[in-house]
Amino acid sequence: MSFTVAIDGPAAAGKGTVARAVAARFGFAHLDTGLLYRATGRRTLDGTEPVEAARALLAADLESDDLRTAEVAQAASRVAAVPEVRAALVEFQRAFAARSGGAVLDGRDIGTVICPDAEVKLFVTASDDVRAQRRLDELLSKGAETDYDTVLAELRQRDERDSARATAPLLPAADAVLLDTTTLTIEGAVEAACAEVARVRDGT
Ligand code: C5P
Repeated sequence: MSFTVAIDGPAAAGKGTVARAVAARFGFAHLDTGLLYRATGRRTLDGTEPVEAARALLAADLESDDLRTAEVAQAASRVAAVPEVRAALVEFQRAFAARSGGAVLDGRDIGTVICPDAEVKLFVTASDDVRAQRRLDELLSKGAETDYDTVLAELRQRDERDSARATAPLLPAADAVLLDTTTLTIEGAVEAACAEVARVRDGT
């Protein structure tokens, strides 16, 4: 039987961490849908046309270890605004969500467009400052040379593009549960998300 958890939110709000933890706790499969757009954006940096890049995507492309850079994040958000790119990636995501045994998908449009009937929908947010600091720590730990102001500006630019696009903009679904992680520890955010999943699963 399928059971889908849709987790959306802006960049660096903690949705990836929450999604991985929920998947591990309940034994569900996890798909970071941002990787689909990152891998597509990565290919366009080599000169490939965006729609062609999305259609040619292979599972192995998602394993590439250079998808987490700021340059690829910006390329991802540019290709993500192209409706034909999004259309090329819909089927794969829906098939993943429908697998038996449960699935967690995190992204921007999972609860609104990809899985509007998901059993659980979470919208994970945090203040701009906290998100920028988290992303800065992540990038610095990987040896990137950057600073707080640069990271904050990039996050805001990406959020604005993701929110303003005409197709599948970043938006909480009307029936999503909001989870603001600004003042929460990782454990606190994970526990809140797991409590919601358990509540729905157990029908309480
Ligand atoms: O989540 P992540 O930062 O890896 O996503 C990279 C970019 O991919 C986002 O800024 C957004 O433009 C795009 N994206 C999207 N829809 C999704 C997941 C990611 O448009 N479901």
